[in-house]
This record gives sequence, structure tokens and C-alpha cells, in this order.
Amino acid sequence: MAKLVFLGTGSGGFVGSERQNPSVYFDGVLFDCGAGTNGRLTDLELLNKTEIILISHLHSDHISGIYDLLVQVAIDSSLNKMERTIEIFSPPGLSSLIANYVKTEAISAELLKLANFKIHEIENLDIKINGKHIIGVKLDHLAFDLGYLVDNGKVRVAYSGDTREPSALEKLKTDYLIHEASFPEKYKDLAIKFGHSTAKDAAKTAAKMGAKKLFLTHLNNRSGPAGEIESEAKEVFKSSIVVNDFDSFEI
Ligand SMILES: [Zn+2]
Repeated sequence: MAKLVFLGTGSGGFVGSERQNPSVYFDGVLFDCGAGTNGRLTDLELLNKTEIILISHLHSDHISGIYDLLVQVAIDSSLNKMERTIEIFSPPGLSSLIANYVKTEAISAELLKLANFKIHEIENLDIKINGKHIIGVKLDHLAFDLGYLVDNGKVRVAYSGDTREPSALEKLKTDYLIHEASFPEKYKDLAIKFGHSTAKDAAKTAAKMGAKKLFLTHLNNRSGPAGEIESEAKEVFKSSIVVNDFDSFEI
């Protein structure tokens, strides 16, 4: 069994502290890294277990926690005299964002050298690493978005990031799907305009991928009640659930 933990289930448009920005932990892999992710991983004793970070896209709500996470891992590695390597896969642009942080002294270059961060900028992915098979496919969003599938040999977990059109992901089979559901069906026009999915879109994808369960995430203050999102998804795919921050599953 492997741990699946929802660290942040909100989105950039969410007002309030109930839902933090997107981040999900699965068996040593972190999908996206919203603000505050390092703190939540630390509280749950998962930061030291994180080996791979998969960034879906560079919108700030999905990556703004990565700077603090890098600094914390570097400091922890140094204090505990641990050799740490973290492999980071991301659409193109993350290296220059981090380089700018270093250049402007927002992050200390000396600090970052205390751990081994390998940034791989990719446009798609099919790799075996740390005992896992990871696939990344390009999806349709306002920014270049990669949906990921992680197979640890026992269970497969897919993650959409943000997308209005997930057909590339739908060609893959998964046991569990984590999919954004930014809007209910009545705001379909807004979903299309801003490159997002409705709860029903996510449910259709779960059915096509042969998933056992669909976890709906990336809610915002225009998403309406979580119950509305969940019931709309359930009409199409019964085993749908809106997840909350700190929800944890053994899968
Ligand atoms: Zn986005």
C-alpha cells in the first residue's frame, strides 16, 4: 500500500485558508507545489520521503511553493548531513524562474548547492525512475500543461493539472484519477474561457481511463458548494469524491 495525501485542494482563485493551492503526495512523488507545501509535508513527515516533483504547469498557484521547498530541503540536508537528490520534471521555464530567484538573491545560490536538485524541462515524458514508470502528456490549458501518470508497479495514479481538454490523458489507463474540477456545469463557458474542466468533464475522463475512483480537486470560490461539484460528477462517474486538504488514502 502507498500513501496518497492531498496537501492542497484549492486554486489560485480561492479566497480563504480552507483550501491551500494545489499539491498532492503519492509514494515519494509530489504533483505540483503550491504555496505552503513544504510546511504540510514537514508536518506529515513526508518531506524527507519526497524524491520526485512533477510540475503540471507554471501558473503561480501550482509552483509558488517550490522556492521554499528547495530552501528547506537544502537546509535540512545540510543539518542532518543527508545526501538528497530531488528530480524535478516541469514544462520549459522553471529553470529560468529559479535562476532569477538566485540572481536577485531571493534564494541563496550557496544554500541551493547543499542538496542536489535536478530540473528536467520536458514537453512530454516516458521514463523509469526510482522504481516508477512515469508518463507525461501535453494537455490543453492557457499555459503549457502536462498531465502525468505514475505507476509504482502496484498501483497507477494519474494527475491532470489544469486542462479544458484531457483527451491525451484519456488514452492511458489508471487505477485512480486526480482531476481538476474548477467549475460546475452552469459555468461551462467560464471553464472553456479559462482553460479548465467542469466536474462532468473530469467524470467522463475517469470513465474513459477505467479508473476505480476519481478525486476532484482545484476548487475555487466560484466553484460553488463542493457537494454540487461532487453530485454532478457522480451523475457520470459514481465513484467520484471532492477531496479536502489533508485527506489521506492508502492505495
Ligand atoms: Zn493553471
